[in-house]
Amino acid sequence: MKQTRYEELVIPGVKTITPFKPPMEKANSSKTIKLDSNESLLGASSKAITAIVECASKSHLYPETSGTALKQALALNTGLDTSWITLGNGSNDVLDIIARTFCHSGDEIVFSQYAFAVYPLITKLVGANAIQVPAKAGYGHDLVAMAKAVTTKTKVIFIANPNNPTGTWCSRLELSAFLEAVPQHVIVVLDEAYIEYCSGGDFPNGLEYIRRYPNLILTRTFSKAWGLAALRIGYALAIPEITDYLNRVRQPFNVNKLAMVAAEAALSDKEHLLNTVRLTSEGMRDIVAKLEENGIGYIPSRGNFICIDVGDAMGTALALREKGILITPLANYGLSNYIRLTIGTAEQNNKTLNMIFKLIETVVC
Ligand SMILES: *Cc1c(COP(=O)(O)O)cnc(C)c1O
Repeated sequence: MKQTRYEELVIPGVKTITPFKPPMEKANSSKTIKLDSNESLLGASSKAITAIVECASKSHLYPETSGTALKQALALNTGLDTSWITLGNGSNDVLDIIARTFCHSGDEIVFSQYAFAVYPLITKLVGANAIQVPAKAGYGHDLVAMAKAVTTKTKVIFIANPNNPTGTWCSRLELSAFLEAVPQHVIVVLDEAYIEYCSGGDFPNGLEYIRRYPNLILTRTFSKAWGLAALRIGYALAIPEITDYLNRVRQPFNVNKLAMVAAEAALSDKEHLLNTVRLTSEGMRDIVAKLEENGIGYIPSRGNFICIDVGDAMGTALALREKGILITPLANYGLSNYIRLTIGTAEQNNKTLNMIFKLIETVVC
C-alpha cells in the first residue's frame, strides 16, 4: 500500500508555522525565579482564588456560553454595553477569532517589526500575507508608515500598545492621527494586554476612541496585571455589529467557568490591582536607575517588563537558568543583544540584576 504523505494534506499556511516554544522553558520548581513571561509580581487576588475554590465543585457543568455575569462586570468596568464584549480563552484566542472572522488567503495583515509573536502566527494560519512594517529608531511601531502600508487587500492592522517584547508605546497624538488616516474598511486591533500598567501622561486608552472609530477593536486580558495567566481569559471590545460576528466564530464554550468566576472576582478587587501596579512601577523605577548607574543600555518600557542590552543574550539567559532564574533572550525577534526581563519583587529584581551585571563584567574584562 502506498504510504500517505501527510505533508500533501496539510493546508499551506500550517506548513510555514514553527511551533511556539518558550526559549527558556524549565520544569518549574518552587524556587525558580520566573521573570520570562510578564506575569504579575503579586499573583492573583485572594478573592479570585476563593471564587475558583468555591466553583471547583461545579466542574461537571458546562459554563454558561454567553458569560453574562462577567460581561456585566466588564460593562461596568469599561462603560460599554455587554453587546460590545467578546470573551476569549486568553486574548490570544480573541486575536485568532478576529483573524478568522475577517481574513483568508490572499488578504494582507499589517503589523510592525518586533511586534508580538502571535500576529505573524495567526496571519500564517489564515493564509494571509504578513506586511511587516519596519520599526522606528528605538524599536517602536511606526504608525505613519503602517497607515501608508494599507492597500485594497489590507483587512486587519495589529498594534500592541505597549508592545511586547519591546515595551515601546505610541502616544495619544500618534494613535489619533493613525486612526484618522486608516480607512474604515480596515479593522484596527489595538492590543492593550498591559493597559492597567499604563495610565497617565500621554498614554492613550483605547476606550477614548472606540465610540468614534467603528473599525477599532480593543483586546485585553486577565493574564498580566490581573494575575490570572493560568486560567486563560481575555476579551475584545468592539461595536455590537462586529461583536456579533466575532461571537459566531468563537467556539460555544471557549472560556471555562473557573476563569469566568475568577475574572469577575478579580474585577471586584481594585485594591489588589492598584498594589500590583504600584509595586511594578516602583520595581521598574529601581531597575532603570541601576541600569543607568551601570551604563547598561535598555529600551524604555511602559509594560511590566524591560529589554536590556546584555550583548550575548542567549549566553546570559542560559547562565541565569543555571542559577534558577528565567528570563527571555530575544533572538527570535531579531534582537539578539537583548533579554526581556519581567519586573518581579524587589528581591527577585536585585538578585537577577546583580547576576546580569556580573556576567556583563566578566565578558568585558
Ligand atoms: C501576553 C500578551 C497577550 C495575551 O496573552 P493571553 O494570555 O492570551 O491573554 C496579548 N498581547 C500581548 C502583546 C501580550 O504580551
